[in-house]
Amino acid sequence: MKAIILSIGDELVSGQALDTNSADLARRLGELGVAAVEHRTVGDDRRAIAAALTAAAAAADVVLVTGGLGPTADDLTRQALADAMGAELVLDRERLAESEAVFRGRGRTMQPANRIQAMVPAGATSMPNPLGTAPGIAARLGRADVYVLPGVPHEMQRMFDECIAPRLVGQGAVVHRRVHCFGKGESDIAAGIAELMERGRNPAVGTTASAGMITVRVAARGASRQEAQDLAERTVAEVRRRLGNLAVGLDEQTMPAAVGHLLRQAEATLATAESCTGGLIGELITSVAGSSDYYLGGVVAYGNDAKCDLLAVPEGLIRQHGAVSESVAAAMAEGCRKRFGADWAVSVTGIAGPSGGSEDKPVGLVYIGLAGAAGTQVHRHILPVTRDIVRLRAALTALDHLRLALMGQEA
Ligand code: AMP
Ligand code: MG
Repeated sequence: MKAIILSIGDELVSGQALDTNSADLARRLGELGVAAVEHRTVGDDRRAIAAALTAAAAAADVVLVTGGLGPTADDLTRQALADAMGAELVLDRERLAESEAVFRGRGRTMQPANRIQAMVPAGATSMPNPLGTAPGIAARLGRADVYVLPGVPHEMQRMFDECIAPRLVGQGAVVHRRVHCFGKGESDIAAGIAELMERGRNPAVGTTASAGMITVRVAARGASRQEAQDLAERTVAEVRRRLGNLAVGLDEQTMPAAVGHLLRQAEATLATAESCTGGLIGELITSVAGSSDYYLGGVVAYGNDAKCDLLAVPEGLIRQHGAVSESVAAAMAEGCRKRFGADWAVSVTGIAGPSGGSEDKPVGLVYIGLAGAAGTQVHRHILPVTRDIVRLRAALTALDHLRLALMGQEA
């Protein structure tokens, strides 16, 4: 089975927004054994979209389209599909009632313009959108199945997984699981699970790198949901067995949630002392609901005076070793632990760049301190390479050291 993916939107063709949907859909198709053979991006132009739809439907078995389903004048995908099918737009009363209920639930009245979102070309069917107001459309065009999805990434992902994936695999079910990993590069992680990643296997296993983490994606097909779930579960267990401590968490449990889970289990509290990460560790930790159970707070001690005044770092230590040093990282963590009365404190001091590096202290040099009841450890890292990445990797690395320490404590 061959698929073509069309992305619709002026913001995409003009380069103001990045087309992430195509890559995402291609990956999801691949997991189902459907090859994406072409990606194409078209602006918000009714005739151009209709022509692209007709051409794609002549060249592939499946055409996936995202974008242009909104209620505004530049959202023309629905009309263009009707043009390509030679059909009129008709109202889907069930979708209209759903949309009205969504608006009522949000205490808003539905604008007349939103009615258009409940319309589909005659002969097509609409697909519910549990996360937004733009339903999707499923249609037959020539000899191809065409699926039109909303542009908003999380809406289109959900619709693909729930409505389209099952159709592409026939009667069966597909279950997706994710194993979030940290501590090695994508190729090292892939090497550890190489046989599981061979093409054509069920479950399909792939890796993606995003926001400093490597995620192993598992997509299992089965005759029933239960069968797919069992298959996915077995492969997830095998991935975790092979990757050991590199596997941080499953599905919604990314690094900060995994650390939070361990802190809660240990009934332990945490405080943070951040220099080059500027509060990013605190931001990651507090992105998890319920983090007030274990996170007491943090100090952004960016300047030297702040390190001395707020974290009781001895001035002489900074003078002698510099602010980016093993001994200052240790003193920051210890001072922070004491100041907050926390069970654990992590500290980060480093050179995020692009300037400020030297031969013995290059850009990317980061010291991470970890103070606990049993003492203080400091880890030295040289992280690559641009400011944003150094900061994010430093924050995640700090959380990872805490995670490993918490697991050691449990054992
Ligand atoms: P639309 O359905 O065209 O109204 O798009 C709604 C939102 O989804 C806009 O904020 C778009 O920038 C975003 N969006 C649309 N297409 C894509 C795409 N291919 N990749 C990522 N975001 C997209
Ligand atoms: Mg648009």
